[in-house]
Amino acid sequence: MEQVRTSKKEAAIETLPSIYSLQLDELKTWLKENNEKAFRADQIFEWLYKQRVTSFEDMSNLSKSLRQLLADNFTITTLKTIIEQTSSDGTIKFLFELHDGYSIETVLMRHEYGNSVCVTTQVGCRIGCTFCASTLGGLKRNLEAGEIVAQVVKVQQALDQTDERVSSVVIMGIGEPFDNFNNMLSFLKIINHDQALNIGARHITVSTSGIVPKIYEFADQNMQINFAVSLHAPNTELRSRLMPINRAYKLPQLMEAIRYYVEKTGRRVSFEYGLFGNVNDQVEHAEELAKLVKGIKCHVNLIPVNYVPERDYVRTPKDQIFLFEKTLKNHGVNVTIRREQGSDIDAACGQLRAKERQEETR
Ligand code: SF4
Repeated sequence: MEQVRTSKKEAAIETLPSIYSLQLDELKTWLKENNEKAFRADQIFEWLYKQRVTSFEDMSNLSKSLRQLLADNFTITTLKTIIEQTSSDGTIKFLFELHDGYSIETVLMRHEYGNSVCVTTQVGCRIGCTFCASTLGGLKRNLEAGEIVAQVVKVQQALDQTDERVSSVVIMGIGEPFDNFNNMLSFLKIINHDQALNIGARHITVSTSGIVPKIYEFADQNMQINFAVSLHAPNTELRSRLMPINRAYKLPQLMEAIRYYVEKTGRRVSFEYGLFGNVNDQVEHAEELAKLVKGIKCHVNLIPVNYVPERDYVRTPKDQIFLFEKTLKNHGVNVTIRREQGSDIDAACGQLRAKERQEETR
């Protein structure tokens, strides 16, 4: 594991609105309102997302006065790298500072099929899942769309040094994306836009803990984005113990919303199922889970959970993981065990941020 506490000279973070929050059309409208030609927006997008400059000053085909106008109204520098941790398997975890001093995590994962970025959507989280370090300090604030976009741009800038590309994005970092719904949708549209980062919808995955009304809203958007639900329990009683969100939106309601999503979009859903030793990892749980998802076009991802220092959960032994998988397979369920990445760095969501916070308060 290699950890670099960045001393790179990065511009100070400004508090102006992030230019990355704007859709191309919104930027065109803004330019027209400021007596500039709309086509300048195409040039600005080219500088932001293809050239990936870090200053308006570098946008050399824009007039000096337009560059100044942009600099007076927007910022490009929404994130500052504080820590960059590289795992022996190539996973890189970034800790970024925001303009108000809060910090967020973003992870670059290396797969055979390409480079995937896991983004954060909120500073902290109010959902309170009992296995998660990110929720310990509660929710501080939502991220602006531009602050989420900037995470992908920052990772892409790091990959530019080796001529590589971000090929997929997962919205599974800190926060509940459906609790910051509009900014999340804006983010999706921007990274998907062919004049921006041009990441195909089928290469983007959003994951929710189960905010039921938003699942209906998301289904009605009819986007081709991959959809995942953190399930973690095969019955409502156990789920309420692991995830307090289940007290507000019970498992039967959640499954009904998921059925609506699958019917409306024709797409399959992924169920994330964290395995917690002696809690939800027994054969009877697998049997119950198979019954629960029967008839739904779906895939189950089993996630052997990393030990989280602030919580009591222990890992499921390997044999038990395979037995759980086999039981699901015997019932005809599509299932995989997620490959662990970055286990020698603080890879469980929120761990790096939590550690940094502890160091700050020492
Ligand atoms: S697992 Fe996700 S939704 Fe649950 S508390 Fe953690 S960040 Fe929030």
